Amino acid sequence: MTLKDKIKLLTQLQECDNRIQDILRRKEIGPQRIQALMGEIKANEDRLREMANQVESCKKDRRKTEQEVQELDARIEKSHVKLSNIKSNKEYTAALKEIDDLKRLKFNTEDKIIHVMEKCEEMDRGVNTQKQLTQELLIRFERDKKEIESELSLLDQDLKGLEQKRDDLVKALDQDLCKRYLFLRERRGGMAVSAVIGGVCQTCHMGIPPQKFNELLKGDAIMNCPNCHRIIYWGEDKDFGASQEVI
Ligand SMILES: [Zn+2]
Repeated sequence: MTLKDKIKLLTQLQECDNRIQDILRRKEIGPQRIQALMGEIKANEDRLREMANQVESCKKDRRKTEQEVQELDARIEKSHVKLSNIKSNKEYTAALKEIDDLKRLKFNTEDKIIHVMEKCEEMDRGVNTQKQLTQELLIRFERDKKEIESELSLLDQDLKGLEQKRDDLVKALDQDLCKRYLFLRERRGGMAVSAVIGGVCQTCHMGIPPQKFNELLKGDAIMNCPNCHRIIYWGEDKDFGASQEVI
């Protein structure tokens, strides 16, 4: 195998590894989105439960106030009966005042009922809106989940193909070069092989000294960038066209 072929294999391996890494990253996003949606649904359901409890307590309040009015009615009636049996003026005036007070109290309590009823109705509307919101969220969740699952299965297919290709590339490369590639890849942010164009390393953007550059053009041995130590090749060589694959 010529040196150029080795470099081609290495660049293909790098491309393959970068795509695998990208797929692995994208495979994490889907489940994270599902998790976030589930959290949102739970928060909505909690809110709905809390609102339903508030409505319940408001309705209880209403029933209690209605009962108060009924009790006041009974007391007013009782006072009227008492009134008809009173003999002295003083007692009569006192009983009239009592009836007046009770009527005023009843009036205020009825006012309170109206207020509580309005509050209950407003809360009911709030619960309905919240129910609708939760329902919409559930529909969105089911739809997104399906989408994410089909995305994941496509990613898995791509991944399988790339892993197969990667195996073939590794088998075709010699072990030492492969080890060197992996060593550099791990320490150089996923980029172990870099093209040199116009005498400049395309990854670290530093110039290659003329002497080294001449050696690179000759292509007698695998070389490293003097600055970033990545494996370098002459990127302007027409033999390194993107469409040319060794295997
Ligand atoms: Zn470099």
